[in-house]
Amino acid sequence: MGKIIDGRAVAAEACLGIKARVQAIAEKGVTPKLAVVLVGDNPASRAYVGMKEKKAAELGIATAGYKLSAEISEDELIALVKELNGDASIHGILVQLPLPKHISEERVLMNISPAKDVDGLHPVNAGMLMTGRKGFVPCTPKGCVKLVESTGVDIAGKNCVVLGRSNIVGKPAAILMLAKNATVTMCHSRTENLGDITRGADILISAVGVPNLITADMIKPGAVVIDVAQCRVNDAWRGDVDFEGALEVAGHITPVPGGVGPMTIAMLMENTVEAAEKTLD
Ligand code: NAP
Repeated sequence: MGKIIDGRAVAAEACLGIKARVQAIAEKGVTPKLAVVLVGDNPASRAYVGMKEKKAAELGIATAGYKLSAEISEDELIALVKELNGDASIHGILVQLPLPKHISEERVLMNISPAKDVDGLHPVNAGMLMTGRKGFVPCTPKGCVKLVESTGVDIAGKNCVVLGRSNIVGKPAAILMLAKNATVTMCHSRTENLGDITRGADILISAVGVPNLITADMIKPGAVVIDVAQCRVNDAWRGDVDFEGALEVAGHITPVPGGVGPMTIAMLMENTVEAAEKTLD
């Protein structure tokens, strides 16, 4: 029987350190401030934004909320982003995704100043990560690595399999694990014989969005399993992994909810504080 990785507890621990950093820079006269831009009224996006604003308030991070109509044009949204880039009181800019179909997410993200890109999605920050330099790291994969580390399992030399190759989760997760000296394999929708690959994983990070894609027989006994996916099934949240079955085989496993989700929010707060600290350099 594996151990459940309590993402809420690991996030709470991380938040203690973040709060201390907020207080340290407050003494130097700076309050970290995050601009939160929500376009339209997608209920899931509204909920995520609400959770982020609530966590910021708990940690002493100020927020400026911009709730925009779904009809806003791409140019108007980019104009707002540019205004926020130029506003010295704002340290981080979060544009909640997805955006309405008529707006190019790529164009909007490209216009966020890399210095305020606390989601780590600008190509400059992606390039920094790729080349081992210090930039903003996307929140979800950053949280995944901390969850693996919270188990006490040494990452160096282990086989890590990452499922999913999105710019927001899969690719950065793989690069981060590589930087921690794991031997990394990436899988995607065209991967053949997925189970043969996942069964070799000492650490499995799954970011696909297909409930029950990973069954117990696809997991190496004792593996660390990080389930990033958030799928709505019969009014409940499920991940990619058949949790009940996998718990019998894995050494450590994150639940959904209560695993990766709280860490994503904590890492957004950490990146915002980091952005504010940099203004003091
Ligand atoms: P995405 O952009 O849709 O990427 C999904 C990836 O899964 C793609 O690379 C796709 O391959 C791959 N894939 C699809 N079917 C597959 C299969 N049968 N076997 C192996 N790989 C397959 O999604 P995302 O934005 O990365 O998010 C992934 C999941 O994580 C979603 O459920 C999302 O809700 C969740 N998520 C959670 C958090 C959190 O804080 N907990 C944050 C972000 C995302 P191709 O590239 O070949 O299409």
